[in-house]
Amino acid sequence: MLGGVKERWLFVYAVCLCATGILAAFVVSPDAGPDFASPLPDAFVSETTSPATTSTTVPSAFPALPIRVDAPAIRTGSGFVLPVTGGGPGAWEVLTPCAGTAVVDGLPVRGAHVVLDPGHGGSEPGAVGPSGLTEKELNLDIAARVAHRLRAEGAAVVVTRPGDHRVTLQTRAAIATSLEPLAFVSIHHNAAPLTNGPMPGSELYHQIADPDSKRLAGLLWEEFQAAFAPFGSDWAVGDDPGARARQSASTGDDFYGVLRRSQGVPAVLTEAAFLSDPDEDALLRTDEFRDAEAAAIAQAILRLVATEDPGSGFVATKVSDAPAGGGGGTAGCEDPPLS
Ligand SMILES: [Zn+2]
Repeated sequence: MLGGVKERWLFVYAVCLCATGILAAFVVSPDAGPDFASPLPDAFVSETTSPATTSTTVPSAFPALPIRVDAPAIRTGSGFVLPVTGGGPGAWEVLTPCAGTAVVDGLPVRGAHVVLDPGHGGSEPGAVGPSGLTEKELNLDIAARVAHRLRAEGAAVVVTRPGDHRVTLQTRAAIATSLEPLAFVSIHHNAAPLTNGPMPGSELYHQIADPDSKRLAGLLWEEFQAAFAPFGSDWAVGDDPGARARQSASTGDDFYGVLRRSQGVPAVLTEAAFLSDPDEDALLRTDEFRDAEAAAIAQAILRLVATEDPGSGFVATKVSDAPAGGGGGTAGCEDPPLS
């Protein structure tokens, strides 16, 4: 499946080469900086600025992005990347963070290798650790670290929120489906373990039907286990360690909205560790652990793109409609200034 994705990109790329001269005036370099809130567009590249060809020593694992003349998304002046539903330069019609509509100015974002989704934000803190550390701020920091690492490898990366903002699941997923990345990773941290064990109780949820989603979940499992083992915690372990799908008992579809709504893009929801566990809360406050987690996510994505490794840690699909924390809807959501 991955080869298919690459081949499709290469086909579009080849078709568009004839337009390169016409497009040259609009080409900008990929955003390779560490600041994922940068107002620069992420991902409009030509064959001369491709991440795959700019390195003089080690070629990037990430293929050249196709050159598109349309703008599936824009980056607003306030740093949001939002899916375009109509309009044009100077007056783009977009899906807002709260899943409304607005007309705003912004710079075109024409594709991405990776979309990272830091869960929760704004008035939705997610899990809160014994120390008071909120999942929303932790997720955002991990996403920034992953983005920094992947950009250093030549990837065009988009993050679904530039700061402490509420964003609906609908908009998060639409950012991914509009940009058609090779991987979409929704970053979360867990709460309410049932017991403790010798191994990190990481949970990776993949889409039921997408083989690349499943493979990425298995690669994330391997990378998390390797990255966290040196920390030697008495790990919290819930009901569901491993890489698995979660299926709605009532619909048969993917249970988690961010995975269901992003179908067509290989997506995984990560729960690397338990923020509710005092030991893991303490680890999650450290640079060392956060860097280890971010490096593991980046490495798993690199392996998805550059290898055929199958991943491991797969466990049976969980079939359940039990509530999973809620949030992500439109009720009470107020859009921030977008330009
Ligand atoms: Zn969460």
